[in-house]
Amino acid sequence: METNPTAAATAAARAWRDRDLAVLWHPCTQMKEHPDALPLVPIRRGRGAWLEGVDGKRYLDAVSSWWTNLFGHAEPRIAEAVAAQARELEHVIFAGFSHEPGLRLAEALLAVAPRQAGRPPLARVFYADNGSAAIEVALKMSFHCHRNRGDDRRTRFVALGNSYHGETLGALSMGDIPLYRRVYAPLLLQPLFAPSPDAFEAEPGESAEACALRRAEELRAIFEAHPGEISALILEPLVQCAGGMRMHHPAYLRRAREICDVHGAHLIADEIAVGFGRTGTLFACEQAGIAPDFLCLSKGLTGGFMPLSAVLTTQAVYEAFLDDSRERAFLHSHSYSGNPLACAAALASLAIFAEDDVLARNRVTAARMAELAAPLAEHPCVADLRQTGMILAIETRAASGEHGTAVEIAGGAGLRAYRHAISRGVVLRPLGDVLYWMPPYCVGEEELLHLAEVTTSAIAEVWR
Ligand SMILES: *Cc1c(COP(=O)(O)O)cnc(C)c1O
Repeated sequence: METNPTAAATAAARAWRDRDLAVLWHPCTQMKEHPDALPLVPIRRGRGAWLEGVDGKRYLDAVSSWWTNLFGHAEPRIAEAVAAQARELEHVIFAGFSHEPGLRLAEALLAVAPRQAGRPPLARVFYADNGSAAIEVALKMSFHCHRNRGDDRRTRFVALGNSYHGETLGALSMGDIPLYRRVYAPLLLQPLFAPSPDAFEAEPGESAEACALRRAEELRAIFEAHPGEISALILEPLVQCAGGMRMHHPAYLRRAREICDVHGAHLIADEIAVGFGRTGTLFACEQAGIAPDFLCLSKGLTGGFMPLSAVLTTQAVYEAFLDDSRERAFLHSHSYSGNPLACAAALASLAIFAEDDVLARNRVTAARMAELAAPLAEHPCVADLRQTGMILAIETRAASGEHGTAVEIAGGAGLRAYRHAISRGVVLRPLGDVLYWMPPYCVGEEELLHLAEVTTSAIAEVWR
């Protein structure tokens, strides 16, 4: 599966890196680590679960390109939908104007959104263009909704320990990953942080469910200590991804839903990472049988093709903004809100779920992932092996560095594991001490075998 680049191809890749490092500034990167400690990998094309470097070397994309890709790179049906849309209408201002992909996508999303018996369904779609922007929209809409109803005391949000909701100031405020938050802390909103229901942090002998219920009581206490002050609770249902793929029992979500209802607060479900099948169901909320007041979607929304996000909310929230006054309107906008190319990609992606019976196929793939990873649990350096659907995480015992801080390839062991995997043709980006598999759904048997083999050798080499 590995190809050895020719000398000329290697020289071309090196020349590329020099040009890149002369002008670019990459995300989530200490640029000083380039070019030596952290090798930059120029990519010329992607096919299925594979990326191909400019030197011809291939890499299995085990992290789905930051959790965006669903069905493989350059998926032909999505590519064709985007190309066809580009020939008709590439973009139009979405204030005062509408278009077919934007309308059809809203209808399609509402049709598949999580439902809860006895609760009015999600009935409105607001578009933005990235995940962080969707979080900003949900926070602002929640606050503004209460205010429009004459309740201007609800100025606080509740977020969970170990959470991640994005990088813009409002979204970053709701996050609890110290390395991302610390520097900007003086600029941020101050949410009330409730302890994470993370089952890895359960007491000895405590089940995941008991841990979730205990944490829910602590959540309830926070609400009771701040009556009438809380606008919304924001959480990542089932898996706190950036926080190290930490997983919790769905019982927590049911309790959280009840607590929000009792206290007149909204529930914001951030399914930006876990949505679109990652956890085994189309949306994670389904596994708890709950529906949120705001559902934030991005990443896999377009199958990994285009930046787009959507915030789904209820008719009741929408109606709180209807008035003769402009000030009561939601005046938030982004230039590329509802971009038709992105909506066309999202529609094509949703169609694939039905056409290929993706969720059923994923159940087989997820079971195979579990089988292949099982031997790793025996390794003395593996503290936990956990899985929710198509997300599988291997928690290693801290080899060095800040344990418990889930920062991407944080240096030390994480960086060595990353480099080892890259040299073996696999993209693994450890989160602190956590290695994880979140492959595109098209991943096949041979690819999974390769992934398991390289993960095993990375652990053996780095966490000896
Ligand atoms: C990635 C992510 C975001 C932010 O999305 P961006 O498009 O990167 O701004 C928000 N919430 C969760 C859970 C995420 O994983």
